[in-house]
Amino acid sequence: MDVNRSNLLGDLAVDVAFDAPIGAMTWFGIGGRATMLVKPQTEDALVTLMQRCHQSGMTVRVLGGGANLLVDDSGIDGVVIRLDHETFTRLRFNRQGPVDRVRVMGGTDLFKLVNETARHGLDGVGQLAGIPGTLGGALRMNAGGAYGDTGQVVDSVSMVALNGERLDLSRDQLQFDYRYSNLPNGIVLSAVLGLEPGDPVAIRSKVREIFAYKSASQPMADNSAGCAFRNPTVNGERVPAGRLIDEAGLKGFTIGGATVSDRHANFISTTPQATARDVMNVMAEIQARVQDHHGIALQPEVVTWSDDPGVGTP
Ligand SMILES: Cc1cc2nc3c(=O)[nH]c(=O)nc-3n(C[C@H](O)[C@H](O)[C@H](O)COP(=O)(O)OP(=O)(O)OC[C@H]3O[C@@H](n4cnc5c(N)ncnc54)[C@H](O)[C@@H]3O)c2cc1C
Repeated sequence: MDVNRSNLLGDLAVDVAFDAPIGAMTWFGIGGRATMLVKPQTEDALVTLMQRCHQSGMTVRVLGGGANLLVDDSGIDGVVIRLDHETFTRLRFNRQGPVDRVRVMGGTDLFKLVNETARHGLDGVGQLAGIPGTLGGALRMNAGGAYGDTGQVVDSVSMVALNGERLDLSRDQLQFDYRYSNLPNGIVLSAVLGLEPGDPVAIRSKVREIFAYKSASQPMADNSAGCAFRNPTVNGERVPAGRLIDEAGLKGFTIGGATVSDRHANFISTTPQATARDVMNVMAEIQARVQDHHGIALQPEVVTWSDDPGVGTP
């Protein structure tokens, strides 16, 4: 990346690291570095940074909690933005006006979201208990599971588009489906969630139940990115990809430091010695064998960042 760094960042309220080890910041804990990791301190700094990157033709990506992300071993050229300054990790509860409308910043950790809303006696995000990551990442792919998803409680979303323009999207402009949202490319700044006032003790107990369900069925302590593949639709019904992978005899299948989990076949667990290419090769083998065994083409759920045009997802 050939840019004048002081023109790009000079007067902005940002923290910056060059040649930043972003792969190590993901839940896989593996993969390469990025030319620049920038953490804005204010919304204005974020907007100006996006405008300048757009004007200089630089690739911008946003890193949330890194819980659904694989970074290629050779790293990536461009700017990675992370919203972990407190400006971007807050929940704003209404003291006056509708108490059930909460503005949540895009970098807010989902664990914090679930716990803080329960503490305030607001119900509606318990379905996200045990899902790692940030609100921005959860909205991007409508994270969820057996108990519901992120999109079901969203009233509106504020974003910064890739050209630095601010966008406010109301409920009727938003579409959410299974691991899908129609959010345009850009950065989720915040969302207003519509929650239900309730009894904090009952809400907490529901959260605990959902968490227990999840930890009983998934290898939560492993290094992974959760489900590697989307559940495909077969004859009009969603079929668990994990079951298809299991039936193809792949539990325990290993390449280098990447292994198909024995507990949940749609999780690929990594050792610290694993490479991103080990994970990609395991995924390719899963796709080939599930295709052979079931005649079904699995689609990745994990986002891959790579400069190799044959590999990456945006
Ligand atoms: C142990 C484990 C269990 C999991 N269980 C589940 C589960 O039950 N259900 C489920 O749906 N997922 C699950 N996942 C996957 C993951 O938790 C979710 O996909 C989560 O939403 C990822 O959020 P993140 O902030 O970590 O996003 P990242 O992994 O950092 O990024 C993922 C994508 O979101 C984009 N993104 C991140 N932040 C923003 C933002 N502010 N604005 C716009 N785009 C953004 C990134 O650019 C990237 O394209 C699991 C993962 C793990 C490791």
